[in-house]
Amino acid sequence: MIVGGGIMGLWAALKAERRGIDTILVEAERTGSGASGGLLGALMAHMPDRWNEKKQLQFDGLLSLEAEIAALEAETGLSAGYRRCGRLIPLPKAHLRPIAERHSREAETNWSQQGRAFAWSVIDESPFADWPSGEFSAAGLVHDLFAGRVSPRSLTATIRARLHQSGRVRLVEGVAAHRIDPLANRIVLADGSSIGFGSLLVAAGVGSFPLLEALGPTLPKPLGRGVKGQAALMKVDLPDELPLLYLDGLYVVPHEGGLVAIGSTSENRYDEPFSTDGQLDALIAEARKLAPGLHEAEVVERWAGLRPKAIDRDPMVGPHPAHRHIHALTGGFKVSFGIAHLLADAALDSIVGKPLALPHSFSLTHHVSVAGRQAGDEEFTEIR
Ligand SMILES: Cc1cc2nc3c(=O)[nH]c(=O)nc-3n(C[C@H](O)[C@H](O)[C@H](O)COP(=O)(O)OP(=O)(O)OC[C@H]3O[C@@H](n4cnc5c(N)ncnc54)[C@H](O)[C@@H]3O)c2cc1C
Repeated sequence: MIVGGGIMGLWAALKAERRGIDTILVEAERTGSGASGGLLGALMAHMPDRWNEKKQLQFDGLLSLEAEIAALEAETGLSAGYRRCGRLIPLPKAHLRPIAERHSREAETNWSQQGRAFAWSVIDESPFADWPSGEFSAAGLVHDLFAGRVSPRSLTATIRARLHQSGRVRLVEGVAAHRIDPLANRIVLADGSSIGFGSLLVAAGVGSFPLLEALGPTLPKPLGRGVKGQAALMKVDLPDELPLLYLDGLYVVPHEGGLVAIGSTSENRYDEPFSTDGQLDALIAEARKLAPGLHEAEVVERWAGLRPKAIDRDPMVGPHPAHRHIHALTGGFKVSFGIAHLLADAALDSIVGKPLALPHSFSLTHHVSVAGRQAGDEEFTEIR
């Protein structure tokens, strides 16, 4: 059974279906809700320098996503709005250029794998007129040819359609899991009913943390929390081949159908998680300066949601230390769309008893120990 049908839970349901596992997916609202119901869909790798196993995992995810989405689109006849569109990063200050050139050399090694090679080129001028405005690129620009974009809503709708086609995953929508009874192997739903499970994947975004915390041990700190993000969608007639733009946390992501997503704020403190405010207005104004082609663009949607951030920042996957048949699949924070399909495979492998093939810092066991250790309690010393 899977609780939560955002991008994590949906990939897990699809992968379970492909393995022939009988699956029920319980979703509080409608699949594709939560943070996965947002607008941005940037697929960007970490920097190509100082390579490590986390960067390799993300590289593998961003590379393999292309074929995963092509297969889904072929099966459903739908578009997920995916394109390896590349990214332009303006370099406003001279000291940034040698750093970018060093990254370019690192990319020649680290982004050249599995028969594919992706450049991180340092160029003097954008190949696309006024995209971005020249005033931001006094020292040139980086042209990253690995980055891509996907429409979050189209991708979740495509996976949902694929699940409906096969009918082998039972979707229970519109009712939240209230708590997990780990001894009776049941989840108790908000309407008072309950459903039994053999193994359980908790993929409920920020809703995962309280469900997992309630299983014990009692932790002095929460296992994770929601970081609010605001974004906007604009409508404008622009050429199809434009790359996404990135500058100091501001993303401008061209999508299909003349839509451009702008994001995102990153707010640790907020009173209203799902409403937008002046911070989004400021972001839109910055985007219009960076990309003058957006000056007259109509804002067609404003959106806010909560990213699931685990206590130790990395995703949170794998078996619960005390209840090995209950597994986490959450904590993707800002990068879930590029790696959810890989994390879902790793979680399903661990359900059938294989070791969790992910960096140790991704494991639920690790996050539980971090949440406990902050109290200085030896009981939470990590056993590896
Ligand atoms: C403004 C913004 C911009 C972002 N931009 C990007 C980006 O460009 N690229 C990227 O990769 N990521 C981005 N992210 C992050 C990404 O959206 C999230 O990491 C991802 O959507 C999390 O997916 P999830 O499936 O873990 O959780 P969610 O998408 O939150 O899904 C959880 C699901 O579980 C359901 N649920 C919750 N509690 C329960 C319960 N008790 N019982 C049953 N169901 C429950 C919810 O209704 C929801 O459908 C962005 C996030 C925000 C907010």
